[in-house]
Amino acid sequence: MKQIRVVCVKIITFTDILRNLKNRPAFNKSATTDGTKNHGDKYSVRYGKQQSDDKNLTEGLKAENKALKKRIEELEASEKKYSVLAKTAPVGIFNADTRGNTVYVNPYWCKITQIKFEEALGNGWLKAVHPDDIASLTRNWQNAVLTMSGSYAEYRFIRKDGTVAWVIGNTVPEFNNDGEFTGYIGTITDITERKMAEMKAEESDRLKTSFLNNISHEIRTPLNAITGFCAFLSDSQLSNERKESFANIIMESSDYLLSIIADIIDVAAIESGQARAEICQANANYILEVLHGRFLKRAGDRGNTLTFKARMPDAEAWIMTDKSKLNQALNNLICNSVKFTENGKIEFGYRKKGDDLEFYVKDSGIGIPEDMHDEIFKRFRQVEVLDSRRYSGTGLGLSIAKEYIEMLGGSIRVVSKPGQGSAFYLKIPHKRP
Ligand code: ADP
Repeated sequence: MKQIRVVCVKIITFTDILRNLKNRPAFNKSATTDGTKNHGDKYSVRYGKQQSDDKNLTEGLKAENKALKKRIEELEASEKKYSVLAKTAPVGIFNADTRGNTVYVNPYWCKITQIKFEEALGNGWLKAVHPDDIASLTRNWQNAVLTMSGSYAEYRFIRKDGTVAWVIGNTVPEFNNDGEFTGYIGTITDITERKMAEMKAEESDRLKTSFLNNISHEIRTPLNAITGFCAFLSDSQLSNERKESFANIIMESSDYLLSIIADIIDVAAIESGQARAEICQANANYILEVLHGRFLKRAGDRGNTLTFKARMPDAEAWIMTDKSKLNQALNNLICNSVKFTENGKIEFGYRKKGDDLEFYVKDSGIGIPEDMHDEIFKRFRQVEVLDSRRYSGTGLGLSIAKEYIEMLGGSIRVVSKPGQGSAFYLKIPHKRP
């Protein structure tokens, strides 16, 4: 009987304690007494003590179990939270193993780079890095992996649609609770917009500097001519013929100086928002006639023929527009044609095109490379020529023409090839009085 009881104790201790206790009312009873009332011997006393130890153990296990369960739940919740964060964060997140191989990228990472998850794994992502950034980035990354340290880099991805994404890549090493290095976690932040703005500002600074250098040259040249030839004119010995020629030079230089100052004032007015279209009645034929008179001599001096074609009778050529702005835009185009054409032809005019009037200025001059067709309409932009001082100019004329024509509700475009001349087309709505 004693033996049986001992065996029972062992079973109860190492198996499912609670279930066994519940199924054995006698033992339950014993557990509530001092151990002698039911059984009257040592074993029952010992059993009672054992039972109380078991109870403590059970309570302990239960508490531990509960804490463990809570911890697991917390971990699961935290993992879920971070997984949601990684999936939805507006920042690219990636994980790399101890050797630096990518093992995870989040959806935003894929969005920035336009690389699919599986393409990014291992070193796959490197294929999309801009060729100019690969060497420094690889060096930086390998160094971080070797030293198990973090890294920082600004670099570019070439996306599948051909656009460039600038990113800041930041990585930190990860260690487990035992202090063992387990890999890296990193982020990439899209800084494309900021980079573009910075590059634009740098370009704008560069252009402004070159404009200031250019303009000081452009202003000094006619000013020197004016002061120099004015001094010659005071020489009483000078023949009338020479006096006339010097006076012409002074006139031309003054005109040029005035046109530079006018351009600067125009740009300042556009920039400050003060330039506005003032619509009035204007006659397209008369505008062309005045321009022809203005440039005929200058064109002839460069061996060019200058012609214009008015397609409507004078009485029908009345339009509602800002005469001075239209005139200024055409003036700038013809001025360029004369400047960039030598011993050639320049023709200008207009024609009706749908509801618009399309003015044109064509020349047989040096032409413009295709990649500059949009650029030349931006301020200070000039096509680089080998001998850059061969042609005077501030790089403002076309930008002013474009702004003015757009103010009139129209548009401007160029058709040109190097060595084959240029044709500028300027379209405005044909509004009759
Ligand atoms: P600028 O003539 O004062 O340099 P513009 O804004 O008028 O400035 O013109 C910008 C640039 O566009 C010129 O410097 C020149 O390189 C190019 N360009 C404009 N018109 C012509 C043309 N008719 N033929 C060749 N190049 C031209």
